[in-house]
Amino acid sequence: MRPFTYQRTTDASSAIQALAAAASANNALTEASSQPLAGGTTLIDLMKLDVMRPTTVVDINPLAASWSNVSVDNGNLRLGALARMSDVAAKPEIQQHYPVIADALKLAASPQLRNMASLGGNVLQRTRCTYFRDVSYANCNKRNPGSGCAALQGFNRTHAVLGTSEQCIATYPGDLAQALIALDATVEITGRSGVRNLPFSELHKPPGDTPGIETVLSPGELISAFSIPGRWPRSVYLKARDRQSYEFALASAAIALDMQDDVINDARVALGGVATVPWRAREVEALLKGQKLDDALTGRAAEAAFADAKAGKHNGFKIALGKRVVSRALHQAATMEI
Ligand code: FAD
Ligand code: SF4
Repeated sequence: MRPFTYQRTTDASSAIQALAAAASANNALTEASSQPLAGGTTLIDLMKLDVMRPTTVVDINPLAASWSNVSVDNGNLRLGALARMSDVAAKPEIQQHYPVIADALKLAASPQLRNMASLGGNVLQRTRCTYFRDVSYANCNKRNPGSGCAALQGFNRTHAVLGTSEQCIATYPGDLAQALIALDATVEITGRSGVRNLPFSELHKPPGDTPGIETVLSPGELISAFSIPGRWPRSVYLKARDRQSYEFALASAAIALDMQDDVINDARVALGGVATVPWRAREVEALLKGQKLDDALTGRAAEAAFADAKAGKHNGFKIALGKRVVSRALHQAATMEI
């Protein structure tokens, strides 16, 4: 591990200042040479692997007193970015009104990791692409811009089939983000010029020509909270993986339905484990709205979700698997007791 400066700040403005000062001292534009530290379960891992090399790490945990609250006001949910995954998953109001969030959190990582890991850190975790995480591979456009992509011709079983580019096919690995994007979450960002709110769907950037730039956050900006309008008691998160615990998704679906009798008034569908960014499947939602869910419609929805999928040499199975996950998740959501 390379030497770095550790700073612990007690309020948001000094954390932001410390992050921005370190970034500008190093002329960092994207791969920040200053990084906030929350649970550390991704950051420290990647620093030990020499993938991330911040010269300054700013511990933001002292902000938890104000940034870890979870509240429901006027039917809208607010989740502090420093709330721990296990704490949020255990809350009765989350389990009752937002089961898709509780499930996405409970099915992620391990109990020990969930006790440490924050929601903000979770949505900003980085890909598990082996070639990205192992610096002995020189060709990785995400880690080393312009160097090529070892996964394109290499072993790409866990890689993405949606949202890929010629430069990068790495999968976005997290679970919570699918629940947030499906529920039209807003992300609250605190920076030098104050607070700004952004649709969660605009936080992550698809790889395009610059896979190293993964979000729209500027150096020094912090995620302070997430907000979700309304309640979604009829919602599920279904995750298919190589083993039943402590494993990332091969394919997952976050589904939320608003139904009157058998008819779907509103539908939200997001896919995980198969795309380069948290993936909202709006074409599937359009297909479902105003319809009665039967086997034929479920089949069409699953097909539509993967209509634009592009497989590499080893990950074609994700298309078939993903369709089954979408079908089953739709069925589960439609038949759940609420
Ligand atoms: P940190 O490591 O502290 O931070 C992560 C990144 O976000 C860093 O770059 C940091 O600078 C930045 N950051 C943190 N907080 C903020 C903020 N508020 N504002 C701006 N930037 C911030 N996740 C899943 O979703 N599903 C899984 O199945 C899963 N399995 C895992 C298995 C293993 C073995 C491991 C090690 C991890 C796994 N994870 C999984 C990932 C885990 O959930 C994340 O590591 C964790 O959620 C990150 O949160 P953290 O608070 O520890 O983040
Ligand atoms: Fe790097 Fe992306 Fe290629 Fe993986 S898929 S080697 S992260 S450029």
